[in-house]
Amino acid sequence: MESRERALAGRLTGVRAEIARACERAGRAPDTVTLVAVSKTHPPEVILEAIEAGLRDFGENRPEEAAPKIDAVASLTAAPLRWHMIGHVQSRKARLVTQGYALLHSLDSVRLARRLDTYLSVQGRALDVLLQVNMSGEATKEGWDAYQWDERSALRAALWRDVEAVLALPGLRVRGLMTMAPLVEHPEAARPIFTALRTLRDALRESFPRAGWDELSMGMTDDYPVAIEEGATLVRIGRAIFGARQVR
Ligand SMILES: *Cc1c(COP(=O)(O)O)cnc(C)c1O
Repeated sequence: MESRERALAGRLTGVRAEIARACERAGRAPDTVTLVAVSKTHPPEVILEAIEAGLRDFGENRPEEAAPKIDAVASLTAAPLRWHMIGHVQSRKARLVTQGYALLHSLDSVRLARRLDTYLSVQGRALDVLLQVNMSGEATKEGWDAYQWDERSALRAALWRDVEAVLALPGLRVRGLMTMAPLVEHPEAARPIFTALRTLRDALRESFPRAGWDELSMGMTDDYPVAIEEGATLVRIGRAIFGARQVR
């Protein structure tokens, strides 16, 4: 038990150092990058160790798995935590993520946006969200298709229309964009995806200047230093902190 805690703390120290080095290379202050510890599959006891090691932001990717864990962790600690939903949310599960989350990274359709907004308006609250976009064209990736958006005018028009529809919903506060890079052999190969996300963000900011576009959620265990060099403000890191995941 004790050595497991030491292992987690040691890995976290390594990740923080890596983040600091990437920020240094990019001429950014380290506090411009939020480390979201992806705790999916890990039980509350392990999350508690991560809290003791200083982490406060946690990411989960399945609303139904996360709900009881968030409650269990709350009963074990008084530390103020920020939970991030980073996985696909089915429209019929929308209600599960309207409460308890600091940020929904994975808003991926107007349909889900409208469903969320309906619940949120009843609750009289608003939710911070990121629009998840698929920059790689891989069919397996969630999110709005934005592959080569600047060369595909019909796709760009559809994407812009959807963004406008989301921005019109009073219950959602758009804060930026999220993407997942494809699995690649070398992290450098993911760089064009991160650059493309930043470029798309800049274009959306120009078209919709009144929305918030500051946040870029990109970078995971295998590629977060590159993502930070390309402007990530949120990195979602699981294995580098918690070690390998068990198959669920
Ligand atoms: C699991 C997951 C991560 C973290 O992946 P690691 O490779 O363990 O760092 C990040 N983002 C999303 C959306 C995930 O599902």
